[in-house]
Amino acid sequence: MKFVDEFRDAAAVHALIQQIRNTVTQPWTIMEVCGGQTHTIVRYGLDELLPREITLVHGPGCPVCVTPIEMIDLAIELAKLPRTILCSFGDMLRVPGSACDLFDARAAGADVRVVYSPLDALELARRDPMREVVFFAVGFETTAPTTAMAVHQAARLALPNFSVIAAHVRVPPAIAAILSSPDNRVQGFLAAGHVCTIMGIGEYQPLVEKFRVPIVVTGFEPVDLLQGVAMCAAQLEQGRAEVENQYSRSVRNDGNLAARRLLADVFTPVDRRWRGLDTLSQGALALSDRYAAFDAVRRFGLTPAPVHEPLECRAGEVLRGLLKPPQCPAFATSCTPQHPLGAPMVSAEGACAAYFHAGRLAAAPEAK
Ligand code: SF4
Repeated sequence: MKFVDEFRDAAAVHALIQQIRNTVTQPWTIMEVCGGQTHTIVRYGLDELLPREITLVHGPGCPVCVTPIEMIDLAIELAKLPRTILCSFGDMLRVPGSACDLFDARAAGADVRVVYSPLDALELARRDPMREVVFFAVGFETTAPTTAMAVHQAARLALPNFSVIAAHVRVPPAIAAILSSPDNRVQGFLAAGHVCTIMGIGEYQPLVEKFRVPIVVTGFEPVDLLQGVAMCAAQLEQGRAEVENQYSRSVRNDGNLAARRLLADVFTPVDRRWRGLDTLSQGALALSDRYAAFDAVRRFGLTPAPVHEPLECRAGEVLRGLLKPPQCPAFATSCTPQHPLGAPMVSAEGACAAYFHAGRLAAAPEAK
């Protein structure tokens, strides 16, 4: 299959591993910030093929995982209102809130539905004008344009019964927060290719200049990821800190201009708490004042109050690359995909779920 088979080619993988071996002379820690990349790395064991000088750590690249508990609680509260239909992607239904999850709310009688697109939720609202349809929107800049399109359409149709809980988040502030943290150990980043397909690469330039770390925009297949690591390692060894684009078959410097225009029209960047990373300046997207009528939080007059994570869950450390999932004492014991204690064990993109499903249950060795 074009654009897949050649990026899973074993000979190419071995050649890149050898290239990286020939490049590195000292230890380097590199973080990917995309749940899809994390799953490829863990599923194919790419981290175990690399020379011992390279440590890959997994960042806050799973949008479900970084959605704070108070937003889950808010969605549950809304779902329980009479005449309301709460819609979201399937993963969100199993993420624990402070007392229950959306599945529990559904079992208790709330109308909670799984949709595959915000446009499905919009269609529900159009067909059932007597019900309030709320879409719980999560995701990075990758999925935000589809939410923006749904809101834009709702405004065009003047739909009075459609609204959105906007829980979209932005990648660059997360990278800045990790690099600003006193316990940071990340020296280079693989940025998510799909985010940059939308946003381009311009937002990363100030980060490499300020923090002097390389950022390589990278794809999602094994060869992509190893090329990204090779490019990042070469920069580190040469003392360079630049934005480079491994995923040039999809990413243009300016991204997708139509999608960016739509995002800028519908959303505005705001400060918001991320699970595991505290409040990030400009780290999230809220509906702009122009589309305030479609903001569920404003429409229903709710105020999300910060909720602390359960102490047993070490998701904050996992999401900052300080802990590998098997190093969490609850991993595969009291926390499993069937009974998750935290979001990284729920989501298909979560690092804890990635290790569990790959059968990598033993505690990982300490970072080299
Ligand atoms: S294994 Fe479970 S409890 Fe531990 S960090 Fe992951 S989600 Fe949280």
